[in-house]
Amino acid sequence: MNRTEILQWLREPDEKRLETLWERADAVRSEHVGDEVHLRGLVEISNHCRRSCHYCGLRADNAELTRYRMSRDEVLEAAGTAMELGYGTIVMQAGEDPGITEEGMAELIRQIKAETPLAVTLSLGERTDRELEAWRAAGADRYLLRFETSNPELYRQVHPAYGGQPEDRIGLLYRLRELGYEVGSGVMIGIPGQTFESLARDIELFAELDLDMIGCGPFIVHPKTPLGETHGDRTKQVPADQQMTFKVLALARIVCPDTNIPATTALATLNRDSGRELGLQRGANVVMPNLTPTAYRQMYEIYPGKACVNEGIEQCAPCILRRIIGIGRRPGRGRGDSIRFRRHTAAGEAL
Ligand code: SAM
Ligand code: SF4
Repeated sequence: MNRTEILQWLREPDEKRLETLWERADAVRSEHVGDEVHLRGLVEISNHCRRSCHYCGLRADNAELTRYRMSRDEVLEAAGTAMELGYGTIVMQAGEDPGITEEGMAELIRQIKAETPLAVTLSLGERTDRELEAWRAAGADRYLLRFETSNPELYRQVHPAYGGQPEDRIGLLYRLRELGYEVGSGVMIGIPGQTFESLARDIELFAELDLDMIGCGPFIVHPKTPLGETHGDRTKQVPADQQMTFKVLALARIVCPDTNIPATTALATLNRDSGRELGLQRGANVVMPNLTPTAYRQMYEIYPGKACVNEGIEQCAPCILRRIIGIGRRPGRGRGDSIRFRRHTAAGEAL
């Protein structure tokens, strides 16, 4: 699909015509990654963050947020729950927390790998080469780092540099691949200042990066952030709504047929009734149920009103299963590795 076609779909307002896009994405999903929906247990291990991204409620400058860091035992317990529920993966996500150390994290990864068959995914922000290498050596399988937007100017505006370091999430994605991680990335949809052209370029970049996972969700305003007060030019601005999110999921599936694509919590936040199901029917094949202990969930407030913050896993697990089965799909078995990654590894090619 070329840039012109991508742009046409991004600008298409007609729900009837969009049905064609949804059907095409669903057919590609079914043919390339099948009907299984892989479940990844998400554990938000810390909400400390040294950065000050202009969109995020965890930013260091948000003094109103109560901070927490889960203990090793709490994380191990969550990993045990993921295993009991038959999930194939644990995703450990956090702010860019200096309290998460190279050795502490490596030890935790080793312990999870020794005690469970789970694949381990990390989403801990921009970390040093040494840390990324040590965590991979300890057994981490995958790393998620969204590039947020491919437009360098917009990226610089919303994602200020930290500690004078040059900002290069895209460079880091290439490095993660060299280190042998399955690599996931993605963008926020409707960041103030994001144009249709730049979103179309984001989708092309998914294909160029040949990603194993693509996580995209709508930007949701957090009032305690600089972007909480921005009002962009509505004629050029990409709307941060569900329809636009579905378009990006569907186009991502078409340009990267083999990749793993989650129906994200941000999407479920915009449409609690059926956001996840519609995402799964328009390109997605992954859901990430939240295993963070309930006491911490509300403190991981990236944006307000997040779906499922008040429910424990006892409610979430059966609810998600019901939703998957309700649309005629089935929960995945095993780790749900990226097909693209397995193919390249089997061929002995450079990843
Ligand atoms: N600190 C790590 C990082 O930045 O990659 C991982 C945690 S961070 C909270 C995970 C993702 O949340 C970010 O990549 C960003 O896309 C998303 N996010 C942050 N603020 C958001 C907002 N206001 N609305 C929607 N998504 C948001
Ligand atoms: Fe920190 Fe990640 Fe939020 Fe940026 S997006 S402030 S790095 S948690």
